Amino acid sequence: MTTTATVTNTAADQIGAAGALMAILTAHTDLPAPTIQLQQFFEPATDIPVGTWGVKLSLHRSLTAFEQWREALDMDPTSIDSAEYNASRWLSVYGTRHGVPVELIGYYDLPKPAAAREEPAMDTCYFCDESKPDIEVRTDPFTQDVCNEEWIVPICAECYQTRCDDI
Ligand SMILES: [Zn+2]
Repeated sequence: MTTTATVTNTAADQIGAAGALMAILTAHTDLPAPTIQLQQFFEPATDIPVGTWGVKLSLHRSLTAFEQWREALDMDPTSIDSAEYNASRWLSVYGTRHGVPVELIGYYDLPKPAAAREEPAMDTCYFCDESKPDIEVRTDPFTQDVCNEEWIVPICAECYQTRCDDI
């Protein structure tokens, strides 16, 4: 018995994936809402038939949401792949849940390079968008620490502290 693509491809073939999706959502009702797709999976690295319908969950807002879902679905962190295309970057991880393939995708942005950024208004905090007397134009501590990149930007004292705390 070989695991080749099913010749028939009808709505009936999607029922397993739809059921798995319901089970996944029902078990994790508090997690951030993902973008949901049912799709056929053709990756060979699985013991289920090629072309099986499965579930793809995409998180667009933050990698925090991706990580929450990864943990909830118990996806192996060592098998996370990263990819980029043009300005888009994303992480993905793949597994089998409720008998169907499940793929989790987390899209994220890197800060733009300094030259590509618009000149910020120097009297407005870049992060809270407010004009405050304690704004200083200085290196963003978070970007420097996390991306090892110097990003000089007007920051109010409160946002500066928040950016430091986030490191
Ligand atoms: Zn601020």
